[in-house]
Amino acid sequence: MADKFYFEPYKIEQLQASYDVAIIGAGGAGLTAALQAVELGLKPVVFEKMERLGGNTNRASSGMNASETSVQLKHGVIDDFKDFYQETYVGGGKLNDPKLLEYFASHTSQAIAWLQEQGIRLDDLTITGAMSKPRTHRPASTAPIGAFMITNLLKQLQQKQVAIFNQTKVIELMMDDAKQKICGIKLEDADQKIHQVEVKAVILASGGFGASQELMNKYRPDLAHYKTTNHEGATGDGLALATALGAQLRDMDLIQIHPTVQQDNPHVYLIGEAVRGEGAILINQDAKRFVNELATRKIVSNAISALEQKSAYLIFGEEVFKRVQALAFYAHIGLVIQAQSISQLAKQINVDATKLENTLTTWNQAVDSNNDSQFGRTTGLRVIKQAPYYAIHIAPAIHYTMGGIHADQYTRVLDENGTPIAGLYAAGEVVGGLHGNNRIGGNSIAETVVFGRQAAIQVARYLQN
Ligand code: ADP
Repeated sequence: MADKFYFEPYKIEQLQASYDVAIIGAGGAGLTAALQAVELGLKPVVFEKMERLGGNTNRASSGMNASETSVQLKHGVIDDFKDFYQETYVGGGKLNDPKLLEYFASHTSQAIAWLQEQGIRLDDLTITGAMSKPRTHRPASTAPIGAFMITNLLKQLQQKQVAIFNQTKVIELMMDDAKQKICGIKLEDADQKIHQVEVKAVILASGGFGASQELMNKYRPDLAHYKTTNHEGATGDGLALATALGAQLRDMDLIQIHPTVQQDNPHVYLIGEAVRGEGAILINQDAKRFVNELATRKIVSNAISALEQKSAYLIFGEEVFKRVQALAFYAHIGLVIQAQSISQLAKQINVDATKLENTLTTWNQAVDSNNDSQFGRTTGLRVIKQAPYYAIHIAPAIHYTMGGIHADQYTRVLDENGTPIAGLYAAGEVVGGLHGNNRIGGNSIAETVVFGRQAAIQVARYLQN
């Protein structure tokens, strides 16, 4: 059903001379902001530089973290947003901006309810690394969250006739003559024609810079050789647009490497954390587990990078396969190795069969006794006892940029003195600080919805004054 929907982007001839607010980027943060803005009676416009709408959000797989939700209660999960705060804080090396994190953790439940009002239901739960409870909300079908969210947000935006232009790149933000507030933007269309539009406010929702070789060389030359999971538009344009107006950047060297990325083909595929969350283990070339698979992404990535091969295998059974819809797609395109016995699987992935048998026996005992004495894993425990057995070859890759624009919990972009730049707001991956030095799986989609909404609400407030 979702696949058949097609959003027809606006034609450049339909561009009007003025709007209340320009939203830069049609990913999760931008589309959420647009929907919230139109609900608040504003006239938004969204500009997306790529042909395809959805940005990196399209690629998100596991789900959206939230705590104290009605969905959790229906699943018998009693949660406390203070625990969500604390676990995210510890997982982020205690480098998270406490004010951003406080607003985030305490507003995810509202975000889930708001999505429900829009008919966007995330009724199933899974778990990601460093979380003590199932908080990762996803569609009942277990479909990957990103494309599901983008499609459904676009449906709502189409109904509400919100103007969304693709292949339209924002190249400059304009301040009024007294340089006191945002008054317009300049953009370049698909024919490289420049247009100028009057706006009272701007929401930067232009995503991160995980696909920018230039910025990677500048901030983390040691990572420049890694492949990236990002779409090619993730080049950090928003950072340049904002710093041209004096905005402050923060934490630019904090880059997340995702541990489980299939990269044996020209196209790189991220194998979502839900696969481990539902029960997969990781083994090295000696057929042994080597880490708590649901430790933070930072810990798991470091453990894989420390292996001689710098890669590992995810191993799982049929139950996991059924609990993560994306796996059927990965199998379809040939990324999943399948076997009818452990020895057959061992042969296919070139590890010792007896050692693999032993590893699985030990793992199954750990699950049955609820005690992983080897690595202390406490979540995502599921036995791997029955054929078919599955394996996916993975290695770490650049995934997410934790640094970015310095904005406050009201999404106001701050200048070098910490003063808000009037009329300039930012939400989503373009903003730095929420995740500390390690983003928790499922927190990025949550960030786009919580702060995408917040940006639109704060713009409405700004325009009331
Ligand atoms: P988030 O998860 O924060 O919403 P995404 O990566 O999903 O981030 O979306 C950001 C979107 O912004 C991408 O689709 C990207 O192509 C778009 N974008 C980046 N720079 C510009 C720009 N200069 N003009 C218009 N769109 C942009």
